[in-house]
Amino acid sequence: MSKEYGFATRQIHGGHIKNSAGALTTPIYQSSTFVFDNAEQGANRFAGKEDGFIYTRLGNPTEMELEGKLAALEGSEAALFTASGMGAISSTMHTLLKAGDHVISSKVVYGCTHSLFDEGLRKYNVDFSFVDTTDTQTIVDNIKANTKMIYVETPANPTLDVSDIQAIAKIAKEHDLIFVVDNTFATPYIQQPIQLGADIAVYSATKYINGHGDVVAGAITGKKALLDQIRMVGMKDMTGSIISPFDAFLVSRGLKTLDIRMEKHVKNAQRIAEFLDTHPQVNKVYYPGLKSFAGYAVAQKQMALPGAMISFELKGGRSAGEKLINAVELMTLAVSLGDAETLIEHPASMTHATYSAVDLEKAGISEGLVRLSIGLEDVEDLLDDLDQALTQL
Ligand SMILES: *Cc1c(COP(=O)(O)O)cnc(C)c1O
Repeated sequence: MSKEYGFATRQIHGGHIKNSAGALTTPIYQSSTFVFDNAEQGANRFAGKEDGFIYTRLGNPTEMELEGKLAALEGSEAALFTASGMGAISSTMHTLLKAGDHVISSKVVYGCTHSLFDEGLRKYNVDFSFVDTTDTQTIVDNIKANTKMIYVETPANPTLDVSDIQAIAKIAKEHDLIFVVDNTFATPYIQQPIQLGADIAVYSATKYINGHGDVVAGAITGKKALLDQIRMVGMKDMTGSIISPFDAFLVSRGLKTLDIRMEKHVKNAQRIAEFLDTHPQVNKVYYPGLKSFAGYAVAQKQMALPGAMISFELKGGRSAGEKLINAVELMTLAVSLGDAETLIEHPASMTHATYSAVDLEKAGISEGLVRLSIGLEDVEDLLDDLDQALTQL
């Protein structure tokens, strides 16, 4: 699809594949395998001499529509959808790394990403340095002869650390390193890592990309040559982590409204962050849309909007946080994020429970940190709910 169309047009029409019945939306091709006309055609498809579907783990029309849509939104050459965000990350890492390689990773990453790197991949003799990627000099200082990749989450889960994608892309180019960005918190509506110089962007499509809390899915975007490798090695053989046709259909449906959802999520989040920032019970607010936040300037530079994830610490620490989580009535106690419902959770004991106490401290994820995924409700109702819960402390 032409890149000249605006974002909203691309999110609706991008990737559409005509079907024989002329259905407006791409049907759910609920089929594991695809029929060959004859032996020669089957052999040619396997040999890559002829385009066409073979088996759903290698590609499916419902999934292909979704790939086209996301690639059109990001202006990337290609996209690939997986069964989960962890499927996207593990397929990428398994394809591009080998024993003896070294990776520089943000010290603040999603909990399961941290355990995949620190335990899962270390078992295969891949080495990791978890560093503060908001400081580009620290990245340079940690490059070794065997460094192969820089992996950055920005804004990071859950402290919202903002790393400078353009500056890191420059370092990666100079040292011939692969640069991967987890863009889950920002979405392509707010931040486009490939345009900013990253080689690969990964997503938990479970979150804003789908946006309705009814699917677990992941995505990878970037250069076609890299994505072809990830599809045919990491995804096809090593993780087998393909999205199902039905989930691909649901994500296509969700993605059509990404822009209007993000606008409302962010509008609500900005109001709530400002409310928390001036509240006497609140010690510190982590939100890229607050001038007082460390990542504000870089966020202004590379993000169209500050996103809708907020973390904060209460003056009463962990026990106050637990009381607050139990006292809210409208906000829902659940992990995950990017849904219509506002979700509240405690990272140290939930999403980041895979971190050791030492690693939590190193990453700046305090025992008292509370994380909010601001939903699409009326913001006055959300503010009232927080207010009543805070007065109970
Ligand atoms: C949730 C999440 C993941 C993992 O995605 P799943 O779809 O749950 O496998 C990865 N990165 C970030 C930033 C996340 O929030």
